[in-house]
Amino acid sequence: MITISTVYRLKNAPAQLRELFMMKIVTIMDTQSIQFNDWQRILFGNAPPIFLLEVLIRALFTYAVLLVVIRLLGKRMSGQLTITEMAVMLTLGAIISVPMQMPERGILHGVVMLFFVLAFQRGLTWFIFKSHRVEALTQGHMITLVKDGILQLHELAKVNMSREQLFAILRSEGIAHLGQVKRVYQEANGSFSIYRNEPSAPGYSILPQMDHQLQQEVQQPVEGNLHACRNCGNVSKGNVQEACSACGHLDWENAVQQK
Ligand SMILES: [Zn+2]
Repeated sequence: MITISTVYRLKNAPAQLRELFMMKIVTIMDTQSIQFNDWQRILFGNAPPIFLLEVLIRALFTYAVLLVVIRLLGKRMSGQLTITEMAVMLTLGAIISVPMQMPERGILHGVVMLFFVLAFQRGLTWFIFKSHRVEALTQGHMITLVKDGILQLHELAKVNMSREQLFAILRSEGIAHLGQVKRVYQEANGSFSIYRNEPSAPGYSILPQMDHQLQQEVQQPVEGNLHACRNCGNVSKGNVQEACSACGHLDWENAVQQK
């Protein structure tokens, strides 16, 4: 219970104690204002219902400004994004949510921040254009995932990609075994570039294990005692008792080629 005498005594209390007491009052008020059947607050928040109309106007205005900013950022923002562009996109999203929905914040505040991000991205792009080091630092590197039909397992581990995930990407390009692949690069923006081996060499089959019918229809085991490593796809001739020269594993199956 807060009485006048409490307030009077508080006035003469040391500053620290006064602050502590005021915090306590604020906490009590906050706890009292949270009630589960308070549908007015749950549906409309603390703003009056008419604010919904204002949100609509705020959203339309912010959307228009956002369109202008994205347009000024360049065409690439609407295609495959680099990591800096992705960061800018997320920042734009975070900036616009506040002026769209908060009654106590003005829209201009958000507009200024949007244009600030635009200027920042433009500046960064200029730096990237000028310096290879800045480019490597901000854009990431391109990596080799498959080299001459052999999986580069340490690179796959670096990008947290499983062999099956990579096989799924290759299958979507119509590739049935690793002997058809010269190189697979993962570009800095996350996309994949695939160079085929023409004509293809014998390789490790990446067709689904359960689909024997497809395996028999499109490929056949290579003659001449050629084996493919089940771990990395390396193709070797001869003794299956020896470990793979590329990855050190001892797990072979027949290498295949197209029919
Ligand atoms: Zn191997």
